[in-house]
Amino acid sequence: MATESIPPEEAIQGTKIGAICDRCNRGIQNGETVGFYATYYEDAGWTLRRLYCTDCGETTVDPPTEGADEVIGAAVWFNHVLAAVRIIDRSRPEEGSEQ
Ligand SMILES: [Zn+2]
Repeated sequence: MATESIPPEEAIQGTKIGAICDRCNRGIQNGETVGFYATYYEDAGWTLRRLYCTDCGETTVDPPTEGADEVIGAAVWFNHVLAAVRIIDRSRPEEGSEQ
């Protein structure tokens, strides 16, 4: 039986994060729906790389990074913690290297 890595929704739920959009530098408000970009590493597990405000959130992993497992998702931001996490798009390692 293959071992599955922890689902990104579970790993990112409850993550502590800053309050500034990485694209427009706007401050995030309590209760705001934010977007995020995260990648998976063998050693560190799921790591949050980018935080976006409601206006800047993306909906697809574009372009996908070859050999990387990465996700675009949305969550509710409250007191520097991500809640109600959902994954919108995911690019698995094998999808980035198609011929
Ligand atoms: Zn923004």
